[in-house]
Amino acid sequence: MLDSVNRSPIVRRRSRVARVGGIPIGGGHPIVVQSMTNTDTTDVKATVAQVKALADAGSEFVRIAVNTPEAAAAVPAIYERLEAIGCRVPLIGDFHFNGHKLLSNYPECAQALSKYRINPGNVGKGSRHDPQFAVMIERAIDYGKPVRIGVNWGSLDQDLLATLMDENAHSSNPLDAAHVTRDALVTSALRSAQFAEALGLPGDRIVLACKVSNVQDLIAVYRQLAERCDYPLHLGLTEAGMGSKGIVASTAALAVLLQQGIGDTIRISLTPEVGGDRTREVLVAQEILQTMGLRSFAPMVSACPGCGRTTSDTFQTLADKIQRWLREQQPVWKSRYPGVENMTVAVMGCVVNGPGESKMANIGISLPGSGETPVAPVFVDGYKTVTLKGDRIAEEFADIIVDYVRATYGGEPPAPHLISRHKTIPIRSGS
Ligand code: SF4
Repeated sequence: MLDSVNRSPIVRRRSRVARVGGIPIGGGHPIVVQSMTNTDTTDVKATVAQVKALADAGSEFVRIAVNTPEAAAAVPAIYERLEAIGCRVPLIGDFHFNGHKLLSNYPECAQALSKYRINPGNVGKGSRHDPQFAVMIERAIDYGKPVRIGVNWGSLDQDLLATLMDENAHSSNPLDAAHVTRDALVTSALRSAQFAEALGLPGDRIVLACKVSNVQDLIAVYRQLAERCDYPLHLGLTEAGMGSKGIVASTAALAVLLQQGIGDTIRISLTPEVGGDRTREVLVAQEILQTMGLRSFAPMVSACPGCGRTTSDTFQTLADKIQRWLREQQPVWKSRYPGVENMTVAVMGCVVNGPGESKMANIGISLPGSGETPVAPVFVDGYKTVTLKGDRIAEEFADIIVDYVRATYGGEPPAPHLISRHKTIPIRSGS
């Protein structure tokens, strides 16, 4: 069986490699998942807790807002407390308007951060723009840090936009305003990167982003950006929104770009519900990459949607329980059982597609639909092994998964319920 990564036909765009806290971005390295806190950075305790939660969920970088002198002063304490609890996720500082002052006045903050996010539209207007941008780049040079030049539709450099609009109005073949605005986004990013290099920042310490909130605009902007440079690209649909809308819009935009090989690090900008879990954006980012076959993070469950043939919620409950349980096991399994993140599990509702889909997974169970005999055959690597029945199907199925993981990814002898009566299961040696 091919694992999900081997199924991927995607050819990644060639880009240079930037290293953030030792983690490579670009150059064909695995696409990095990142996220951002929504705590007040001056609240060290809350920020440390959320950074830790995001990192534990799988965020490989965590960005924090550094918006005031107090926030800049809090950054070293956040870094130290994270170190003390063994959380070494690289921290990225998000600067707007006053980053030149904060990075200069708070050297321990500049040192603690692994990357600085600079928005060229928010570094100062008119004659102040270039000197203030230059100060931030100089601090990045001083401290040996990479930067993300992150342009955003909502804070696009208005002077640049006005100039490009004016040039367009006088051209023989003027483009529409949306086209010129997209050009302005890309131009702002590229000119800023060139300026940073001219100031002495090595080109391999620059990551670019041009975020917009409309799916088609995002695709058009990143295609242009990808063609015009070889900097690694940070993808994200900004202000994606809440709930399913935010997830669908982000997935629609990022899937098109990722399929074309564009994108070296991603963030899903979901608006959490009040009191909602911030780590959801990490899970969504991972699931986009994993379902596209670009990376594997944790075993995934395939489940049918259910229909009139399933009159109880047994299989939905089992599918949900198994998916949650697999995610809970993954932090321990990933070091003990290398390759387990590629494992696929199917939980199906009836005999119509149940056996077929279960055979396609590493382990599958076909639950009984309405009117079927109340038994649940289990399939291991394509072969039927045991049939479960009674009240403990979920627990027994979980036991079978554990034995499969130990045998397949841990090299232990296969348990009897992994052996088909028809064929000895070829237990693999991992991956
Ligand atoms: S597998 Fe069975 S229960 Fe599930 S959607 Fe198909 S027909 Fe319905």
